[in-house]
This record gives sequence, C-alpha cells and structure tokens, in this order.
Amino acid sequence: MSAQVIDGKAFAAKVRGHVAEHVARLKEENDLTPGLAVVLVGEDPASQVYVRSKGKMTVEVGMKSVEHRLEADTSEADLLAVIADLNADPTIHGILVQLPLPGHLNEDLVINSIDPAKDVDGFHISNVGLLGTGQKSMVPCTPLGCLMMLRDHHGSLSGMDAVVIGRSNIVGKPMAQLLLGDSCTVTIAHSRTKDLPDVVRRADIVVAAVGRPEMVPGDWIKPGATVIDVGINRVPNGEKTKLVGDVDYASCAEVAGAITPVPGGVGPMTIACLLANTLTACCRANGLKEPE
Ligand code: NDP
Repeated sequence: MSAQVIDGKAFAAKVRGHVAEHVARLKEENDLTPGLAVVLVGEDPASQVYVRSKGKMTVEVGMKSVEHRLEADTSEADLLAVIADLNADPTIHGILVQLPLPGHLNEDLVINSIDPAKDVDGFHISNVGLLGTGQKSMVPCTPLGCLMMLRDHHGSLSGMDAVVIGRSNIVGKPMAQLLLGDSCTVTIAHSRTKDLPDVVRRADIVVAAVGRPEMVPGDWIKPGATVIDVGINRVPNGEKTKLVGDVDYASCAEVAGAITPVPGGVGPMTIACLLANTLTACCRANGLKEPE
C-alpha cells in the first residue's frame, strides 16, 4: 500500500487565494486593509528566514506588512513599548512576536502583553483559555493548518482515535484541543510516555510534533492511518543539509493511508493560517462577517 500524499503546498496556495479575494473585497466594499506586524528580536538565522517569508506572503495577499527588527539586547521595557504601540494602532490587526526570544526576555510576559484580539499566533493566555473551553478564539496557526488538512481529507473526524506526539504550548496541546473539539478520542504522548510504539499503533490519526528527525518508523503506524508530520529538522545530507520531519517518510508512506511530506506539508499551511487569522482579526475588529 502507498499512502496518498497530502499536498500542503497546494492547499496553502488555495487558502492564500481565498484570503486574497476576501482582502480585495474588504478594500473595495469597506475601504479596509488588514495589517500584520511581525516583531523580531535578535538575529536568529531561521527566524529571519521565517519573518522574511511571512512579510512577502502578507504583501502578496494584499495586506499591509510591518516589520520591527530589534537588537538582540533590547530591554523588556522597550519591547513592551513597541507592542503597546502596535496594540493601539488601528491599522494593525495582527501582531506576531517571533519566537524564540533572547534569554533575558520573559516570553510569557511578552506574549501576554499583546492585545488578545490581535494575537494572531493564538498564544495569549486568553486565547488558550477560550480554545480550551470551546469558545471563539484566535487558534494557533500550525495546529489549525493540520486540522484543515485533516478535515479536508476525512470530512468528519468524529470518533477517530488521534495520537499527538509532543505536548508543547505552540503545537501539541492546541492540536489536541482542536482534535477534541472535532470529537476525536485524543491521546497526548510525550517523552515520558510508556510503550510509545503501541500507543501510536492505536491511532487513526498521528500528529508528530517532537523535533526529532525521522523518529516515528512505519511499523508504529496502523495500516491506513493518516500521518501529519509537523517536524522541521535540518540534517546533514552529504556535504549539504536537507529538511526532514519527525516521521520516517519512506517507511510510514508504505503503511499509512495518507501522509504529509516535509517540506511541502504542514509548513506552508502555517503561514497561510497566519494570514487567514489576520483577516479574521480585521473582520472582528470592524464588526464584519468573518470569512468561512
Ligand atoms: P518542543 O521541543 O517544544 O516540544 C517537543 C515535544 O516532543 C515535547 O513535548 C517533548 O516531550 C516531546 N518529545 C521529545 N522527545 C520525545 C520522545 N523521544 N518521545 C516522545 N515525545 C518526545 O517542540 P515544538 O512543539 O515547538 O516543535 C516540534 C517540531 O515541530 C519541531 O521539529 C519544530 O521545528 C516543528 N515545528 C514546525 C512548525 C511548522 O510550521 N511546520 C511550527 C512549529 C514547530 P516533553 O514535554 O516530555 O519534553
């Protein structure tokens, strides 16, 4: 058996297309342009690449893109002042602080200083609480992208057994909440989980968000299961490097019913969902109907 490949790149292009159409209508009918501000502290090379690509795609869908690049030794007070200005700016509907922050800055404090209505990453404690209680919130982009691909592939997820490997606040936990919200029976596995292979073998849906290259082999996968690989790991490849996920793609694709590739799976959906969240935030801020 060979798994169907879930093409996140194509799906993300479709999502960005819908966002762009909606943005054009907002301009025409309401004279509104959604604005996304990205704050980057320091010069982490991977973060710089992400921020550049977010800015480029924000402009491509017709939104306003603002970047604040701050020195690595920026004080907490200065960073909070930048966020306060963005909170007060009516032309900015989404604020994203690129993580990780340099060690001298308190990440929780910084994230919780963002206006929850503009928190397009969905990491503010209010949005976490709203998601956990099934209320309207800003949903973290990576898990949202995973959920959209799962819904698109399966239709209803009701009653399915889902195993999420990883319990981080940015991927594992919100992913589990979303799957629960879609009536899956959810197990969250982590580094202390006993008999992980047996736990994973029960799953109709496996979401791997671990950060360990190719950790999940094909013989952990129930035949026909859907495998969503969140991992982005750079590994040596001869004299160069390449990106691999948290699952061993070749062996998992032989057993799974469907699988996301790395690259070209979850990654592009994350940025598409960030743009969709910014559009949603803009509509909510102006009392307009939210996009579907
Ligand atoms: P974290 O490091 O915050 O969390 C990793 C989780 O994996 C932890 O809960 C940890 O358990 C668990 N874990 C570690 N080792 C094992 C193991 N041997 N067995 C079972 N569980 C284990 O990572 P993130 O959630 O931030 O990211 C996960 C991956 O997803 C990374 O590769 C990251 O690059 C990628 N990512 C991709 C994104 C995208 O857009 N595609 C966006 C965000 C992340 P414990 O809690 O017990 O330590």
